[in-house]
Amino acid sequence: MGPGPSDVHPRVLAACARPTVGHLDPSFVALMDDVQDLLRYAFKTKNTLTMPVSAPGSAGMETCLVNLVEPGDTVVVAKNGVFGGRMAAIVERIGGRVVLVEDAWGEPVNPQKVEDALKANPGAKAVAFVHAETSTGARSDAKTLAEIAHRHDALAIVDTVTSLGGIELDVDGWALDAVYSGSQKCLSAPPGLSPITLSDRAVDVVKSRKTPVVSWFLDLTLVMGYWGSGAKRSYHHTAPVNAIYGLHEALVMLAEEGLEASWARHRRYHEQLAAGLEALGLSYVVDAEYRLPQLNAVRFPEGVDDAATRRALLDRFGLEIGGGLGDLAGKVWRIGLMGAAATEKNVALALAAIGAVL
Ligand SMILES: *Cc1c(COP(=O)(O)O)cnc(C)c1O
Repeated sequence: MGPGPSDVHPRVLAACARPTVGHLDPSFVALMDDVQDLLRYAFKTKNTLTMPVSAPGSAGMETCLVNLVEPGDTVVVAKNGVFGGRMAAIVERIGGRVVLVEDAWGEPVNPQKVEDALKANPGAKAVAFVHAETSTGARSDAKTLAEIAHRHDALAIVDTVTSLGGIELDVDGWALDAVYSGSQKCLSAPPGLSPITLSDRAVDVVKSRKTPVVSWFLDLTLVMGYWGSGAKRSYHHTAPVNAIYGLHEALVMLAEEGLEASWARHRRYHEQLAAGLEALGLSYVVDAEYRLPQLNAVRFPEGVDDAATRRALLDRFGLEIGGGLGDLAGKVWRIGLMGAAATEKNVALALAAIGAVL
């Protein structure tokens, strides 16, 4: 019950143990098509370019940025936690110009500040922000932020690593342009894959680049030779076949439950957990309106030894929770309710164990 990886369901682990076939085996190619359709369902998109990058969430982040940003481009990056800062660092390495819009840790991204930054920097190519900031547990308004970006003719590049499967996300309805996620948060598949989806508008931007993408491995024009739908698939790199079996099974399970039902389950058990944590004297970092159900960041009572308490939870109850990051290090715990781990039984275990150890 930390900030990810979340518990992997036995069905998903069993899928990972299926025999490894070649990455161009006809049975695997059919499974790739299935994975792409299931990802379109999870992202709520019809985007052709929808696929898992063969690497963790940070590689999905880098894929979106290296393909869309060229040296000299201006990108407005919103930072309200760890991951916005990582996006800014990548843009800088590409040679882009970062306009940083900062909000306090625990606050959502302030749309007015993004609007002001776009007004002050006409011609900015993109706005990049995190939908669900796992370092603080805050949800930002992706729909409004994308609307603002489009009003200024900028692309919306969105981190949905922790949101996909856990809270409402509507890639087409909100007109998000380049979106990446991760396999190990609310999808509850093993870590190491990053689902991404790009709008046609974003694909046009990639196709009309003046400079080659600085990364060979993440260059989507090359990767699509393997993942491009309809196209004859050809070797680009050896896909992590067994990891993709696992992602496939996790997505099948999400579709069986239903996307909206999964969002509702995360909310239901979050409310149970929140009531119990507050009764134990722990207080949430984020205001109720912006709280992520899947990532509960709570301040612990003064005098409590952070590391010793988390160690006792692990040793005595087999329960892992996360510590704070960055500005919140040593001040909060981050309790995940992600994917297969968002269950009533886990809420009961967490409350009993934290109560006992405290
Ligand atoms: C976990 C996470 C990432 C990074 O994913 P990795 O798989 O660790 O590379 C990026 N953004 C957010 C919001 C995350 O929660």
